[in-house]
Amino acid sequence: MYKGTNASAGIGIGKAVIVEEKELVIQRETITDSAAEIQRFKGALETSMEQTRALAEDLATRVGEKEAEILNGHIMLLSDPMMTGEIESMIQKDQVNSEFAIENVCTMYADMFASMGDELMQQRATDMRDIKTRMQKVLMGVESVDIASLPEGTVILAKDLTPSMTAGINPANVTGIVTELGGRTSHSAILARALEIPAVVALGGILEVVKNGDMLVLDGSDGTVLVNPEDAVLAEYQGKRAAFLKEKKELEKYIGKPSITKDGVTVDLVANIGKPEDVDKVLQYDGEGVGLFRTEFLFMDRNAMPTEEEQFEAYRKVAVAMDGKPVIIRTLDIGGDKEIPYMGLEKDENPFLGYRAVRFCLDRKEDVYRPQLRALLRASAFGNIKIMIPLVTCIDEYRAVKALVEEIKAELDEKGMKYNPDVQLGIMVETAAASLIADIFAKEVDFFSIGTNDLTQYTMSVDRGNDKISYLYSTFNPAVLRSIKRIITCAREAGIMVGMCGEAASDPMMIPLLLAFGLNEFSMSPSAILRARKMITEYSTKELQAVADQAMSFATTTEVENYMREFINS
Ligand code: PEP
Ligand code: MG
Repeated sequence: MYKGTNASAGIGIGKAVIVEEKELVIQRETITDSAAEIQRFKGALETSMEQTRALAEDLATRVGEKEAEILNGHIMLLSDPMMTGEIESMIQKDQVNSEFAIENVCTMYADMFASMGDELMQQRATDMRDIKTRMQKVLMGVESVDIASLPEGTVILAKDLTPSMTAGINPANVTGIVTELGGRTSHSAILARALEIPAVVALGGILEVVKNGDMLVLDGSDGTVLVNPEDAVLAEYQGKRAAFLKEKKELEKYIGKPSITKDGVTVDLVANIGKPEDVDKVLQYDGEGVGLFRTEFLFMDRNAMPTEEEQFEAYRKVAVAMDGKPVIIRTLDIGGDKEIPYMGLEKDENPFLGYRAVRFCLDRKEDVYRPQLRALLRASAFGNIKIMIPLVTCIDEYRAVKALVEEIKAELDEKGMKYNPDVQLGIMVETAAASLIADIFAKEVDFFSIGTNDLTQYTMSVDRGNDKISYLYSTFNPAVLRSIKRIITCAREAGIMVGMCGEAASDPMMIPLLLAFGLNEFSMSPSAILRARKMITEYSTKELQAVADQAMSFATTTEVENYMREFINS
């Protein structure tokens, strides 16, 4: 049994097909007519863009706009005048062939992105290598691996899948994907989830143990991969696969049903999104609104900040698509693990405790915060937008944002521009400080949303991305649970809405506790909504009080987790 990173849920069973891109051998050749060579490069650039455009269009119709965005990002990279300029100038100055100039310039960029260390920049590096190879193949007349016509029942095995390869996959034939490289948030993993193909990534060395035609079983929910398993094990996984598909089908009957407990308590089941295109999935899974729009994604994968107009369009699009349902949009939350190179942020000694989120925005009012808040206010005229501030630690920060919002409202009034004058302004409660003064905040802000991803990190003083100490990172730790309960109680006492948008909101072991504490709104990835709705309709909040009391009486995380596991399995 091998263990990689779980990247797309579901069980895949089938015959291994190793997909290898042939290494292109790029040689340096001296040319004499650099003008003609630059024309040759330009022709290849144009063809590469056309190919990418065609692939993006196909993906947009087959899968969705959002997935096509990844390839549109490639078109943006291909049309970056800085990069193409450098290639042309190398052809001219060094009198070299296009293939060689592309190799040098693109590799330089890819290495630069890769050296920045974070996952997003790693992805950029993969994208850069992908477009490099595409241009070189056009120049050299090399055909790509025909991934679209693999036989039925195939499990694809590859060192890494580029987004363009993943986009070409026919989900009817491919039952699973296993790669040696990549991560949960790499573009190929995102595409695998969108195509609903089970996937395990970051499984180093697997290509050394698997041959073409081997029988492979993978569990994309826990990252397990089995090679040529015994019949009994194979049968067990076939059963799991059938159960997974059956559950998926059964959950569809919760589309259009209310999210109401047995004793008549209605909650809102809403979605976390990162891009306007994600609303397609929210509607598909019957989300009752958006509980967290992480706007930093609008700022990523590009070379400059989105303008007020671009932001306005993005926010308006979501508000209109959700048609009056609540849409909570969080203002820019960068810094920490989310870097945006063009923002000119220096590396903090302690990024998670540093210059980030609302701290950064209040320091960059003119060029960053004002345009975003103005875009949000203008978009509020088109739907039920609420504004949410991340990483708040003290009331002064809330008041400063509120004052800025009021200033912008006055400006919009002067110009006769439309906005919703009653737009709500709420906060993420995700720091220990905000939790401790939740009673004070609750008197002043319009709503709370508990960010358990950070609340756990800041309560436990444990970096949420550090494997060595991940045993301490649990929302079921009694300290974190007390914090959550208190935040909900403070909100309820003050009569404001309290939601949760951290990963814990969709955790089956946590949902009963949150219902007992009185949480109003659960926000999660769209594909988790129907399972949560099913759970909620099976509970009575009254009956859950005793369960919550018992869970709160334990001294250790393990006791709480064991108790809740037993409870939901009983
Ligand atoms: C959180 O901290 O729980 C949260 C939802 O925000 P993010 O994961 O974007 O920090
Ligand atoms: Mg957070």
